[in-house]
Amino acid sequence: MKSYITTPIFYVNAQPHLGHAYTAVVADTYNRFKKLCGSESRFQTGTDEHGDKIAAAATDNDITPQAYADKISGMFRDCWPHLLIEPDNFIRTTDDAHKKVVGKVLQKLYDAGDIVFSDYSGLYCQGCERFLTEKELVDGLCPDHQKAPEEVTESNYFFKMSKYQDWLIRYIESNPEFITPARYRNEVLAFLAEPLEDLCISRPISRLTWGIPLPFDNNFVTYVWFDALLNYLSGLGYDPDGESGELFEKFWPVAEHVIAKDILKPHAIFWPTMLKAMGVAPYRRLHVHGYWNINETKMSKSIGNVVRPLDMVEEYGADGARYFMLREMSFGLDSSFSSEAVVNRYNSDLANDLGNLFSRTMAMVKKFTDGVVPAPPLEKNEIDSQLQDAADEMIQEYCRRMDDFAFHQALRAVWEVISLANKYIVENAPWELAKDAAKRPRLEAVIYNLLETLRLIALPLHAIMPQTAAKMWEILHVPGPADLKTQGQWGGVLVSGTSVQLDGSLFPRLEKKGADKAVKNSPKQEKSAQGKVKKTAKKPAKTVENSAVTFADFQRYDLRVANIVAAEKIKKSERLLKLTVEAPEQRTIVAGIAEYYSPEEVVGKQVIIVANLPPAKLMGVVSQGMVLAAKDADGHLALSTVSGGVIPAGSKVA
Ligand SMILES: [Zn+2]
Repeated sequence: MKSYITTPIFYVNAQPHLGHAYTAVVADTYNRFKKLCGSESRFQTGTDEHGDKIAAAATDNDITPQAYADKISGMFRDCWPHLLIEPDNFIRTTDDAHKKVVGKVLQKLYDAGDIVFSDYSGLYCQGCERFLTEKELVDGLCPDHQKAPEEVTESNYFFKMSKYQDWLIRYIESNPEFITPARYRNEVLAFLAEPLEDLCISRPISRLTWGIPLPFDNNFVTYVWFDALLNYLSGLGYDPDGESGELFEKFWPVAEHVIAKDILKPHAIFWPTMLKAMGVAPYRRLHVHGYWNINETKMSKSIGNVVRPLDMVEEYGADGARYFMLREMSFGLDSSFSSEAVVNRYNSDLANDLGNLFSRTMAMVKKFTDGVVPAPPLEKNEIDSQLQDAADEMIQEYCRRMDDFAFHQALRAVWEVISLANKYIVENAPWELAKDAAKRPRLEAVIYNLLETLRLIALPLHAIMPQTAAKMWEILHVPGPADLKTQGQWGGVLVSGTSVQLDGSLFPRLEKKGADKAVKNSPKQEKSAQGKVKKTAKKPAKTVENSAVTFADFQRYDLRVANIVAAEKIKKSERLLKLTVEAPEQRTIVAGIAEYYSPEEVVGKQVIIVANLPPAKLMGVVSQGMVLAAKDADGHLALSTVSGGVIPAGSKVA
């Protein structure tokens, strides 16, 4: 058995966020699952580094596109280990080996007459970096970028995608698993019901130089999507000249791609037709997931509610973050992230259900069987069989669901057994059995059965929460590596007489107090009135090693000049003033300055505010930001401002 799973290569125009992290966690989980099933499995991710937007961002940052790509690509590469994401290959489209493959494929298709030169005028969206069809526009705007595309006329090279339209329709229709879930398959088929246009695959160097040159015309570079999609093959050592080698032979036939729904069309239409033209078999399956909304609103850089993976790891641990993502989202549908939702799931599922089952069982081992694994029971009664059957069935159900990418249902199957085991404790009341020496064999049977259930539960969890599973096995002295074939049935693995002991708990409870810390519009602030989610017990290892703030960190703070246009005291508060400021839009900020300033004094003042804090309610008033002020040792306070004449409200402070 073999498996090859990929994430899209992430475009280096943005730092890693929750959306990227989810895709990568899904691919990593699937990869671990396949290994658990005994497959030889390969997992590839990486970064997509050419194109208009990268060139523009590099210019803005006053560095070369390559230096810019190096920097952001490095952020992705460095981020993944914190989430226990372990790809076998991290590919970059600026790698020489990749560029070589792209050049060869272009030449081959050009020689075969599948790439032609022609004039084209069309509607070009800068954001999408492609021509849009009239039909894709909503009220004349690109639906993804809310901008009217520009009319652009130029000569370009085109891939004759239309030639393969009928083949693609037939292929999708006769392979129901090719695009999943089915809603996306239907979407693609609906799109293909209209005539397919040829794909413009070049950009004139007068407009863009940051790309792979066309081998047959050095006045053009390659369109970024044509370049990017080929990573799935170049990462396997594919060679269009027929010298592809072992990795390609082994893994391409089982290739599966995971993507978010915004890049469905390139993956479901461009890519299979490119493969067909190249004479390469289509990938096996395309798995399409939905979007993460943040507190019910779309995650966006301009709103400033971007969730950073490293903050999630810091708050909830890698396993906690992974569990939440996979349990909360039904693969294919949109889902919502909030700190509250994570804390609720963590506390109810991990701290309560699983954590309690584990610590209760370990406490009973310590108390009733001298801290050692008892011998396997010789007899079983009906509720023992029930538990055993449920545990066996859990493994089957888990495998089916994982194969279908129904991660939340796979986890639900595990949690059914966890709750059954918790019930098993209550029904058997080991503390009662312990009172009667004659019931010692029954007591040992109950404890053995619980330990065995926990051992089996850790197996499926390994793919989702590798650290937790490893910890459970370490405590139970289960030998690695995790393997469903040899360890996935009841009995025969635990060694009786082995001493087992748990120090602390698997999942210390999380406390929740107010605002979303992992939502990155709330930079850390020691003295603000904003709430934080805090751990009661020890924090997971810090992901940021020192207290120095990087420039990138600093840039996340939206500091702005604001004009105070109105101010009033807040009833029942000695300390707080309600300010109305313009920055440049009007907003309300509650500031703890009433002991130092009267409302009349502050109106008309220009101050500096932190504009991207999450809204927080203070004495019943929603505050949308924070006013900066300085305080001396004697407790005198002065509001911040900018020197010199009047700066327009809303100006950035940096
Ligand atoms: Zn667009």
